[in-house]
Amino acid sequence: MKMKFKFLGGADMVGRMGMTMEGNGMTALIEYGLSPTKPPEYPIPAPRIDYAFLTHAHLDHCGMIPQVCGKNRCDLFTTPLSAEVAEIMMYDTLKIAKAENYIQPYSADDIERTMKAVVPMTYDDEITVDHLDVTMLDAGHIPGAAMFKFDCDVSTIYSGDIHTESQRLVYGAKPCDCTNLFIEGTYGGRNHPPRKETEAAFLAKIEEVIDRGGTVLIPCFAVGRTQEIMLLLRNLDYEMWVDGMGRSVTRLFLDYPEYIKDVKHLKAAKRKFNEVRNTNSRLSAKKGQIIVTTGGMLDGGPVLGYLNYLKDDPKSAVLLVGYQAEDTNGRLLMEQGCVKIDGEVVKVECELQKYDFSAHADHNQIVEFIKACDPDNVIMMHSETRDMFLPDLEDYNVILPETGVEFELDV
Ligand SMILES: [Zn+2]
Ligand SMILES: [Zn+2]
Repeated sequence: MKMKFKFLGGADMVGRMGMTMEGNGMTALIEYGLSPTKPPEYPIPAPRIDYAFLTHAHLDHCGMIPQVCGKNRCDLFTTPLSAEVAEIMMYDTLKIAKAENYIQPYSADDIERTMKAVVPMTYDDEITVDHLDVTMLDAGHIPGAAMFKFDCDVSTIYSGDIHTESQRLVYGAKPCDCTNLFIEGTYGGRNHPPRKETEAAFLAKIEEVIDRGGTVLIPCFAVGRTQEIMLLLRNLDYEMWVDGMGRSVTRLFLDYPEYIKDVKHLKAAKRKFNEVRNTNSRLSAKKGQIIVTTGGMLDGGPVLGYLNYLKDDPKSAVLLVGYQAEDTNGRLLMEQGCVKIDGEVVKVECELQKYDFSAHADHNQIVEFIKACDPDNVIMMHSETRDMFLPDLEDYNVILPETGVEFELDV
């Protein structure tokens, strides 16, 4: 049968994802996120929805779900871990909106109703909604991240964010035969250096900074990256601190060991790090040797306090381990060597280095994954550089959807 698809956001960019899938009198929403810019940017409004599917708990995929599931009666299919992490992200979105005087995109009641709408699924579970059989697959990106396979006349896979290579925190995603493949292309045109080499260079830099008497500040995203870095550092004998939302996310990860590659290692990492719980321990952390803290793009969270304390010390270093979006402090630091703290632009004298610890498959890994899934139609999304894939995908019917423009597929 034929179904109509429409991206509500995120087709040609990394941010504010959302897609509807409509046919046979049923409309499903797959993801509904926001771009955490200042102020945040939202996808276009969603129509009336019967079912919602969430791949994972990053803000660009989950941040706006309560506006649909809180206001409509509709089931929300996701892993129980993604639901719990998303709940933290949703309340944080309200907190930021309040602090910055933005319009609240939804209410706390909407979040509560959204959590009641969750129908937990786990990898390889199968359910049927209307005429569609739905299977959840492991996406490899962060703990709890899922792809969805929809089976009707043919198979249709929606990847969400994926990594095909094993990381310290999770195993990689496995390809699966399908006819229609919706796939992310964050790294179109770019490939990661080998992870082992990145890890070695990162650890060597840490040793060098500490040997010269400096402190290592590692700004990290709370969901996934904080834990990946803690796992990598867990065998070091330094005074290490972890601060920010990443701490509560680590605890949630440990509540769901089935989504973690090696839960013993994560427990050991958590034990090895001192947790910042109050102002006093934050003072001690400032004098520590390694500080892993949210937020990843230096736009909020405890990281700014640490940076303010360390900024005049050329012996110390800021090691960036994640993506720095435009118009963020992280980008400002990379391009101009300064950051905005409390409205004032200040120069940072610390050494600055950037490392690629991406949780996304790179260009070649995506092409390889597509080949292994052997689809007829490849629908590229979540990418600013998706046309870079075209020369490698000449054997497929490639669709580059635009936000707000409907298209039809046989499903
Ligand atoms: Zn993600
Ligand atoms: Zn994403």
